[in-house]
Amino acid sequence: MSSEIITDPSGNFIRNIIDSDIAVAKNPDGVITRFPPEPNGYLHIGHAKSIVLNFGIAKSYSGRCNLRFDDTNPEKEEGEYIEAIKQDIVWLGYDWHELHFASDYFEQLYQFAEQLIQYGKAYVDDQSVDEVRQTRGTLTESGIESPHRNRSIEENLNLFRRMKAGEFGDGERVLRAKIDMDSPNLNMRDPVIYRIKHARHHQTGNKWCIYPMYDYTHCLSDAIEGITHSLCTLEFADHRPLYDWVLDVLSTPCQPQQIEFARLQLEYAITSKRQLNILVEDGIVDGWDDPRMPTISGMRRRGYPPQAIRRFCERIGVTKKDSTIKIDVLENSVREHLNEHAPRRLAVLNPLKVVIENYPQGREEKLEAANHPQKPELGTRRIFFSREIYVERDDFMEDAPKKFFRLSPGREVRLRFAYYITCTKIIRDDDGNITELRATYDPESHGGTADGRKVKGTIHWVSANHAIDAQINVYDRLFSTPTPWAANDVHDELNPDSLQILQGCKLEAGLSDASVEDAFQFERLGYFTLNHTPEHGDNRIYNRIISLRDSWAKVSR
Ligand code: ATP
Ligand code: MG
Repeated sequence: MSSEIITDPSGNFIRNIIDSDIAVAKNPDGVITRFPPEPNGYLHIGHAKSIVLNFGIAKSYSGRCNLRFDDTNPEKEEGEYIEAIKQDIVWLGYDWHELHFASDYFEQLYQFAEQLIQYGKAYVDDQSVDEVRQTRGTLTESGIESPHRNRSIEENLNLFRRMKAGEFGDGERVLRAKIDMDSPNLNMRDPVIYRIKHARHHQTGNKWCIYPMYDYTHCLSDAIEGITHSLCTLEFADHRPLYDWVLDVLSTPCQPQQIEFARLQLEYAITSKRQLNILVEDGIVDGWDDPRMPTISGMRRRGYPPQAIRRFCERIGVTKKDSTIKIDVLENSVREHLNEHAPRRLAVLNPLKVVIENYPQGREEKLEAANHPQKPELGTRRIFFSREIYVERDDFMEDAPKKFFRLSPGREVRLRFAYYITCTKIIRDDDGNITELRATYDPESHGGTADGRKVKGTIHWVSANHAIDAQINVYDRLFSTPTPWAANDVHDELNPDSLQILQGCKLEAGLSDASVEDAFQFERLGYFTLNHTPEHGDNRIYNRIISLRDSWAKVSR
């Protein structure tokens, strides 16, 4: 892993709260946080923000961060996601202290619920979840008390145990906290804390047919684990009174503090598992790890380095106010990291052959090429030069304007790391298409010329006989509008050019040793990485991670 580990977006308001807690020695066991994903999909860039925050805070206070799967919803969750989530967190550069499942606490949560009943703070309601919702009232009107609200403790205990024993069908009864049907906060109007669901759970199998609700489970799981600061997104601010109520009534030994921060919303990206799932289900993308997905696995396959994602999360910081982050902030974090670390290579995406007529037949040279123009410590490599080379079709123009400093008949241009060449002739097929160029080279021009003659342009190239063939997937933004999440139909927002497949690209020979997750700058073209496909062979597939510059700059401002 890189030495550059960002520990925490510095100076945020959460740190200020923790600092004051430390000043009064509130948490004798140190700071303990948790990252609590629901295993109902793959992690996305929004989760990365929460991961960097929770693990980062724990690290910078020499505390601990647990990974807890928030798995109270048996039907929507799958074991497959659990492994993927763990892998993503490790890949991002973090390691949890303890691994838990909320379902590990089902027995304890059940016992706590019996306690609530004993305290007269919970009751079994025979109304359905829908009826409960309909009688909850509105922001201007009180809720209506359930006819079953004042059942005796004995009757409630008996009914709750029978719910657990499986005597009732799905939705026939619920357990509700007995709080206040007049509360201005709707979450406090006798919320449902258990529901009946005869469903198999991926961790607990068929052991349970009643499942605790999120709000009830989360605060108690935090308390059981001794979490000191329970960081969640702003939409849970209105749930905090319930969080505190449960912990107060049950007098749990640990009283974690819930602190809310703004969710990440990112331009040109969707950060909702449900909406991302639609893209996967409709076949718009090639799975959750499609390189255009804002999932952690997608960004990984695309070639985004984990350090760049962490740097992005640090940059955007943590606030109390929702906002939309510009996609350039992410893309520039990726560019900056790659610009600093990615070794340079030569590759030609749209090849045009050039035969250098005064270069001896059969001869080949190995020229020295720097791996990074600003970092001599990254060393050099040898690249083949020979009589036949490929250059980029776009780097040739027949009737070129004056300022075209690339290849054109009669003009001299520098080949990167090699010689000056001058185009002498154009070869065409019967239809008049240019198929090949002829040129001459100046044998004295390697590394500049003695006569001080300057050429303005430098172009990239590869030796035709030595080059390896590749397919290159040129990825771009999946959506053409910055707010796809707000669309009625995401299909209308798709960028038709989000994937262009280029065949017959030519790469310098040394790239045959590249491995998955090595990232390179192909000079003048962008940053690229091997796609992880099993069928590597000679015909390799590369992904374009990102262009050298933001070609959307005009569109997105
Ligand atoms: P989704 O709508 O994608 O399912 P979620 O919030 O329901 O998102 P969880 O798996 O429950 O997803 O989230 C795990 C943790 O990640 C939670 O603490 C949640 O607050 C945080 N999280 C999820 N999305 C974001 C986001 N966009 N920005 C910041 N934190 C997020
Ligand atoms: Mg969720």
